[in-house]
Amino acid sequence: MMVGNMVGSEPNAEVGGKVESAMASPDKRAFCTLCPHRCSLAEGQRGICQARIARDGVVIDENYGRITSLALDPIEKKPLARFMPGSSILSIGSYGCNMHCGYCQNASIAQVGPAHVEWRQMEPADIAEMASMFALQGNIGVAFTYNEPLVGFEFVRNCAREVHQRGMKNVLVSNGQINPEPLAELLPLIDAANIDLKGFTPAIYRRLGGDLETTLATIEAMANEPNLHLEVTTLVVPGLNDSPDQMAKEAAWIASLDPQIPLHVTRFFPCYKMLQLEPTPLDTLHALADVARESLDFVYLGNC
Ligand code: SF4
Repeated sequence: MMVGNMVGSEPNAEVGGKVESAMASPDKRAFCTLCPHRCSLAEGQRGICQARIARDGVVIDENYGRITSLALDPIEKKPLARFMPGSSILSIGSYGCNMHCGYCQNASIAQVGPAHVEWRQMEPADIAEMASMFALQGNIGVAFTYNEPLVGFEFVRNCAREVHQRGMKNVLVSNGQINPEPLAELLPLIDAANIDLKGFTPAIYRRLGGDLETTLATIEAMANEPNLHLEVTTLVVPGLNDSPDQMAKEAAWIASLDPQIPLHVTRFFPCYKMLQLEPTPLDTLHALADVARESLDFVYLGNC
């Protein structure tokens, strides 16, 4: 089941009452401390992620409960290869992202603000109830995915609490660009995660509008979190992150945390701003997977 292009509703200015990741300054600029961008916003200005906005001197999560995409997906599609295989997961997304990859596969919701996407307003309890209703169809819980879910931190947290109260699972699919304090609050609520590791050099992350050290810190925190199942994905883009040497370093670093963390090495297809590139050659993908297997026990090819 896929429900896209949700019917839009009026923005709800009250949703930001729950924001802990924002502070007001004397000159009325508002600061968001949720991710490494640490946006300083004038009144009415949106953050780099386009999901959060300064209102009355604080940054609120304007995309709270604004669901743009909703589907009952196989767990393997997240991708999670070694967490409750064969099950389904109610997958939801909103809009916005704090990175700006030219090859974004969900650009129509991730690389836009509220003026360019339709949504349906839903409360955390609505989502959790829907997840319960789908249990008979093999649903195990809710996956926060599609756009970057962590720019809507408060909704993910509140929804995850509701899901746990119903005895179901929470899955997070994220770029890992979140500061340590909010991450620590969220981790006990997450049962499984797939974190996108977009490359293994600071330069790659700068080019994509992110920070390598932040994603590495998120992966490390998740690897050390009891009861959280972690997998990692690297989408291989020709000329960007297809170096065997970098893959060897990446895999060795993941293995230093735990060699049993699964790594998905996935194939790029032209999209968004990178329509001129060819898909990743299959030989390249297989060669990089072989390099990763020298350090890791479970390496999977994706999009092949
Ligand atoms: S979450 Fe959004 S508003 Fe907050 S610091 Fe990051 S990009 Fe800026």
